[in-house]
Amino acid sequence: MKKKFYINSNLERLFSFAATLVLILMVNIVLTQTLLKKIQANAEASFIQRCDDTVDDYALAVDARLKQLESKIDIFYAKLAYKTLSIETIKKFLLDEKKQIVYPFNMVVYSDKNGVSWNSEGEEFDIKDRLYFQKIMSGESTFYVTNVLESKHDGKPCLIFARPVYNEEKEITGVLFASCPIERAAEYFAKITGNNRNKRFAIRDSNKRLILHYNSKWLNWVYSPWKYDDKILVTDDEEFKVKESISTEGDLVYVFYRYSEISPWTISYAVPVEDFVQLKKSQSAYQNFVLEVIIISLSLIFLLEIWFHSILEKHQILSTHIDSITHLMVRSHFEKEANKMLRKHPRSKFMMLEADIRGFKFINQQHGENVGNQVLLQFSKLLYEVSKNYEGILSRGYADHFYIFFKISSVLKAMHFFKNNFNKQVDQIKSLEIPFTPKFGISFFIPKKMPASTTAQVLITRANFAKDTIKENALQDFAIYDEKLLKRSSENNFIETHMESALKNNEFFVMYQPKVDLKTDKVVGAEALVRWQSPELGYMPPNSFIPLFEKNNFVVKLDFYVYEEVFKFLRKSLDKGDPAVPISVNMSRNHDKPERFVHDFIVLLKKYQIPPDLVEVELLERSSMDKNILREITIMLQKEGFRVAMDDFGSGESSLNMLSTIPVNILKFDRSFLFANDAKTGKLDETSETFIETLVDLGKNLKKETIFEGVETEEQRDFLRKIKCDQVQGFFYSKPLREEEYMEFLKNHR
Ligand code: C2E
Ligand code: MG
Ligand code: MG
Repeated sequence: MKKKFYINSNLERLFSFAATLVLILMVNIVLTQTLLKKIQANAEASFIQRCDDTVDDYALAVDARLKQLESKIDIFYAKLAYKTLSIETIKKFLLDEKKQIVYPFNMVVYSDKNGVSWNSEGEEFDIKDRLYFQKIMSGESTFYVTNVLESKHDGKPCLIFARPVYNEEKEITGVLFASCPIERAAEYFAKITGNNRNKRFAIRDSNKRLILHYNSKWLNWVYSPWKYDDKILVTDDEEFKVKESISTEGDLVYVFYRYSEISPWTISYAVPVEDFVQLKKSQSAYQNFVLEVIIISLSLIFLLEIWFHSILEKHQILSTHIDSITHLMVRSHFEKEANKMLRKHPRSKFMMLEADIRGFKFINQQHGENVGNQVLLQFSKLLYEVSKNYEGILSRGYADHFYIFFKISSVLKAMHFFKNNFNKQVDQIKSLEIPFTPKFGISFFIPKKMPASTTAQVLITRANFAKDTIKENALQDFAIYDEKLLKRSSENNFIETHMESALKNNEFFVMYQPKVDLKTDKVVGAEALVRWQSPELGYMPPNSFIPLFEKNNFVVKLDFYVYEEVFKFLRKSLDKGDPAVPISVNMSRNHDKPERFVHDFIVLLKKYQIPPDLVEVELLERSSMDKNILREITIMLQKEGFRVAMDDFGSGESSLNMLSTIPVNILKFDRSFLFANDAKTGKLDETSETFIETLVDLGKNLKKETIFEGVETEEQRDFLRKIKCDQVQGFFYSKPLREEEYMEFLKNHR
């Protein structure tokens, strides 16, 4: 009997197993089909995305190259701008300097304000009918790129790159432009994709004339591929606008396109429609079969799992592993599961996120624990919503700490997903009854770069570390762990916790680097440069702490500390009857309130009774936003009798443009100009020499004093003297010196 019971019971199980198996097989067939379709759609989506990214990159590269072209005109531009020259001089200059015209330009032309032009070939013609001339003269544009035009020189198709020329009063007096034959332009832009022209890229102007095409015979043709209307390619999460068209070779193509931001041109990338068709076909029957087998075997395993685990057992396991508020895994179970995933897929990449809520303690105190729990629940739901479709696990640790662990295909894609999903949810949270801001720490497991023994615990520690680095920064809501972050962060941490006490303990001190007049070889000034002698970190140059102080704004305090040290030193020298020459101090960009800065500066100056002509201020221009503030500070300081210098002139993006807005007294040229020299002789190359000379000339025309920093060799000094630069500062004469050494130097070089 007993035996039979057992047999019966097993038979029953067998039958139900078989029935379930049949059911699952049927479901499987449907599932495989859907899945295959999905895979196909995914492959197509990523193909479209890639094409779109490609044209995006290419358009950016075209604009970057256009910017380069702008600066290639500089060498002529600097010679003509901000001065009044006779037409004869300009004509001669254009002819004489013809060899300075650089590829891809073939000609440089100057036009007066009536449109009468002279080119570097000595020809004269009239351009007042040209649109670019009108645009530039009206002040509408400071750099204008044209469509394809017929050259006035040889009638051939060319492109023009034009800039306005100003006189000393900053009025537009003419136009300087360079022309570039269309074939050369094609060659120049084709370089973006390497030496062989890429069949798929094209550039056309706004008249649809081809500027770049892989087949030169099509250049300058109006080949309008837009035969049909815009077509929208749709993927799961985005829509892409393309043109369906026929290529010059007669193929049906999709054209991805972008508009250039600097020129009226369109940049396009054409992909044969056939490629899309092929992509679909490649999902072959074989793949279909393999997929089917995989799914069936997986289902079998799944079935066996159910077979062997009783519901009760499972229930018990669950109940001890689940958090009662959020119904997510508790941390210990999460770690176990995450470790299992790591072991199971040793060759996969993973992403670990740790999230918490800013000021959660405050929410608990303010609104009570129940509300706090509600917030936790809401946050957990949100995290679940975002991650439920991905292969991963979710957990709540203690208090408001949440953990998410994902298998990912690439770090880039994971970050894209994170930014588009988690980060976007932050807005939704803000509209909740009790809004809160989460912050995230992220770490990755990358199999090739990390030991296979890496555990979930290690990844959590790293994510936690990354998250801690943004604790005080309310504007940043996530941080990613890397080794550099660890090192930088511990150094920065140390600096930040010690900076205030360092200031009190006089660990910062000032060194003085002499400035020498090139006519007399005498010291006529010095620059005050700060240093930090830390008992723990040792001697530090400003570059290792100023950037951090600029971020946390401590530089504002430090600057004033330096000013006070300098004024004290000047006072001492004056009292002793020692010689004194003007000392320049650096002003960081963090001083963003002109009145405040100038007021505090003068209060300090008065405290030590220093005459303003013994003090100069060096400004730095880094972004166009600075311009108005810098202009105001300059004017206010000058009214008080100080002289103002533009530091590192020429290193920024738009130094030449700055000349018309910020009326500084001194141009202090960046030492990077002196880098382009022959390694053996230390002699500057010819183009750099011409350029430096032109810039120094330009400064002189604008009645500004000129000084070069970073002069290290006699050759450099001699050259700068030859071109009549006023002063130099650099290791050739002296490194920055301590007070006493500097006084010694000053006394010996007067
Ligand atoms: P900067 O104002 O352009 O100062 C010139 C830098 O070039 C100094 O570096 C100086 O030592 C260095 N230098 C001078 N001659 C030569 C040379 O012949 N060869 C080479 N290789 N270098 C030379 P330093 O002292 O390291 O200062 C770096 C930057 O830190 C400064 O650049 C300035 O922007 C900033 N800085 C220094 N002191 C202060 C300060 O008190 N306040 C603020 N806000 N910034 C400061
Ligand atoms: Mg400076
Ligand atoms: Mg400088």
